[in-house]
Amino acid sequence: MSGRLTVVGIGPGDARYRTPEAEDALAAADALYGYAPYLDRLPTRLNQARCPSNNREEGARARSALHRAAEGIRVALVSGGDPGVFAMAAAVCEEIEAGPAAWRSLDVRVVPGVTAMLAVAARIGAPLGHDFCALSLSDNLKPWELIERRLDAAARAEFVIALYNPMSRARPRQLGMAFERLRKYLPPTTPVVFGRAVGRPDEQVSVTTLAMAEDSADMATLVIVGSPQTRVIVRPGRSPLVYTPRAAQGRPA
Ligand code: SAH
Repeated sequence: MSGRLTVVGIGPGDARYRTPEAEDALAAADALYGYAPYLDRLPTRLNQARCPSNNREEGARARSALHRAAEGIRVALVSGGDPGVFAMAAAVCEEIEAGPAAWRSLDVRVVPGVTAMLAVAARIGAPLGHDFCALSLSDNLKPWELIERRLDAAARAEFVIALYNPMSRARPRQLGMAFERLRKYLPPTTPVVFGRAVGRPDEQVSVTTLAMAEDSADMATLVIVGSPQTRVIVRPGRSPLVYTPRAAQGRPA
């Protein structure tokens, strides 16, 4: 039997967020590769090997998964959320491009999942109802200057902005610096949504404004910064709805 590498998105939280296609791909695998906490979310199956790894070693993890698949094993490489959004699918492509010619003949598949920004948006209304972009604030793989240029451009173009990897213990200042940057372009009343561990038992979602937004988050948090068109509907006895209307005029340039 010939090997296969399937990069599987398991969504942001528990099993309810996984698609039937992802479930099938996980069940069909001889070996599961992935960051240990993601593998911990999956049921154990008889005769299925588990190869957990540390989050920092994405390239190495992709290479080992490719080696195993090339040996004729059906490998599922697991990603949180969607595997194509700041995750393993691109790492696999990078390794295939740089790796042995034989890897180009492998059966490689990508199974999509619910990415964090969609899960957070759904909790609060429809903040991504009009044009939006997604940015990772991690400067592990790109210089901070590039992140600043992209923040400036996104705010000037009036995109709603989803911020992945907002800060970590190793990068405590990124989110505060990003808010400072965005305050130059966006009204102080711009809605800001913090979604933490969405889809998991310790989920927390809150809404504030750009003026009041604190730079406190962690690696399980996704931040959505509204556009000048994003609105908050305050409701009695219910949490507010944050949404971006489907039509926009845009401010004069
Ligand atoms: N591939 C993932 C993203 C990986 S980057 C996806 O598609 O969602 C990791 C970042 O995703 C985290 O720092 C956080 O910003 C966000 N994230 C992942 N899971 C999350 C969740 N359950 N709730 C909120 N944000 C989450």
